[in-house]
Amino acid sequence: MSFNFETTYTALPPTFFREVSENRVKESQIILWNKRLAEELDVEDEYANTALFAGAQPRDYITQAYAGHQFGNFTMLGDGRAMLIGEHVHQNKRVDVQLKGSGRTPYSRGGDGRAGIGPMVREYIISEAMNGLRIPTTRSLAVTTTGLPVYREEVQQGAVLTRIAASHLRVGTFQYARHMVDEHAVRELADYAMARHYASLEKGDYIGFFRAVMRRQAQLIAQWQLVGFVHGVMNTDNMTISGETIDYGPCAFLDVFHADQFFSSIDQQGRYRYSQQPAIGGWNLTRFAETLLPLIDDNEEVAIAALEEVLMTYPQVFGDAWLAGMRDKLGLATARMEDRNLAEQLLSWMEANQADFTETFRALSEGKAITGLAEWQKQWEKRLEIEGTTVEAAQQCMRRVNPAIIARNYYVEAAIQDAEAGNMDAVEMLVEALQNPYEVKETHQHFRTPPTMQNPYVTYCGT
Ligand code: AMP
Ligand code: MG
Repeated sequence: MSFNFETTYTALPPTFFREVSENRVKESQIILWNKRLAEELDVEDEYANTALFAGAQPRDYITQAYAGHQFGNFTMLGDGRAMLIGEHVHQNKRVDVQLKGSGRTPYSRGGDGRAGIGPMVREYIISEAMNGLRIPTTRSLAVTTTGLPVYREEVQQGAVLTRIAASHLRVGTFQYARHMVDEHAVRELADYAMARHYASLEKGDYIGFFRAVMRRQAQLIAQWQLVGFVHGVMNTDNMTISGETIDYGPCAFLDVFHADQFFSSIDQQGRYRYSQQPAIGGWNLTRFAETLLPLIDDNEEVAIAALEEVLMTYPQVFGDAWLAGMRDKLGLATARMEDRNLAEQLLSWMEANQADFTETFRALSEGKAITGLAEWQKQWEKRLEIEGTTVEAAQQCMRRVNPAIIARNYYVEAAIQDAEAGNMDAVEMLVEALQNPYEVKETHQHFRTPPTMQNPYVTYCGT
């Protein structure tokens, strides 16, 4: 089967998008093709269609308008280097097929609309890693080189990522509608988003809509915290309405556990550090709530009170999701008052002892001895006793939720360097390991080792 593009997004008022048709590509070549995802989407035979994935096929593409708070400052944004090919429907699911890095668009502002091979390969790897960890995420179908140079700090080969997403509706899309268009646009957008992502809600139940988005985001961020994922740019334009993780720029997984870790070179204040992510989620959701006010009640005070009531539950919803996930990580099947404390003590121990986040949970799951953790382990075993479970039984469950392999910076960067030199083997092997992070093949064992690094790892946004 091939793509059955049909686009519902363009039924929105024209203020939400611009069409582009012209594109310039020299010699395109698909360098990464996600076979698994292609099968899921039923588009196996699209592989030959290189021109499509490089953005070279003459057809109408859609670029979407959005705004957003970037590091706290409100700006007009939009698809400056991305274009929607269309929506593909498979097994009653509708997904956006989008090209990222395919050239200038009406929203490019000063940018060239292009992307380098490094950052696109990075997104390919990390999004597949997230999917392997069962965390909602946009996916990567292909990386295609364009044969054009891209000028950043150094010259890079241009590349295009084919991104698959439940949709590209963002908190920033609502901010655009509310602050740059009008109330009518917000209503159209909300109705569209609800029909597309929250179809079980009654039409016009905007409070229910807000609550549903809030829940998905709370769940999502809890899952990030539980695997030590630092997104790096939690701007409101990078927060989806669908609840998928989007935009893998300066993101990274923690190795040694530091709650205040951040990786982005442009995040000088550490606004988006690991420990801040839940709070930033709340901040972004507050911006989202503001956009919905006119739909809730004509009297603004009444509308604010109604949304605040929902928003106030966010810390609890997040906390519950996090604790439930922590119980799974610790092999606890029932809930007890002391569980949060038990989990927090383990994290404090990790931080004080510079322990690797992923390896600590995994070692516990595999019954490996951990130096210096005996006191805590005694408490944990007592807690398991109360449940009437054996440690071995608990560990069996734990191995299904505590990954052995995460996308460690060192291996991601090494694979990217090979890719830049034209060799995709390391990327393919890493991605294969990341697709099943709970069972480690012999040939993938080395990905577990946390490499010792001299300098703190920094990721760059110059993508
Ligand atoms: P991001 O950092 O990917 O979330 O992008 C933030 C905004 O900058 C979005 O509006 C992007 O479309 C835009 N942008 C990023 N890189 C480029 C580029 N090379 N050319 C044009 N716009 C870009
Ligand atoms: Mg973005």
